[in-house]
Amino acid sequence: MADNRAGPSGPAAVSGPHFEADCSRCAALCCMALALDEGPHFAIDKPAGTPCPNLSGHACSIHDRLPDAGFPGCAAYDCAGAGQRVVQEVFAGRSWQQEAALTGPMIRAFAAMREVQALHRFLLSAAGLPLTPAQEEERLAWLETLAPERAWDAAALERAAADTAPAIRHWLRSLAPHLAQRGAAS
Ligand code: SF4
Repeated sequence: MADNRAGPSGPAAVSGPHFEADCSRCAALCCMALALDEGPHFAIDKPAGTPCPNLSGHACSIHDRLPDAGFPGCAAYDCAGAGQRVVQEVFAGRSWQQEAALTGPMIRAFAAMREVQALHRFLLSAAGLPLTPAQEEERLAWLETLAPERAWDAAALERAAADTAPAIRHWLRSLAPHLAQRGAAS
């Protein structure tokens, strides 16, 4: 989670710059938008939509010692690049910290972008499966829907998460026999 000092699992998860979190270009969205449940992963309870008390501006004040401070869950968390995409692409670098009215819209956009990034990654990973030509065509078509020519705006992003994402998840589930086949062959 928010390391602003400097600056999905599945078959062969795709990595690369597009999926690397860049906290320096985010606005600590994970540390505000997500809930923390007190337990082995987090030392405190924090409801979703409230800033973590360990935040200092957009940076985590205990980032150097998260596991020792009782927050190994924060050290392990990875937004897969959703945070900076929301802040830079959807909100042009603005922050809920300066404009409270952005809090709700940024929370919704962050949830939607996490889904978009996760599905984008799954679809890229599916290139390694023995798909039929028709399935490959569908895979490329889904990828196109997740990569609009212009930057995402908040409304389009929410529509993608509400309407397109369930359809993509359904399609990805239909590939399960390929995964089983590949597992049996390996
Ligand atoms: S402990 Fe640090 S990384 Fe974890 S939510 Fe709070 S500010 Fe973010």
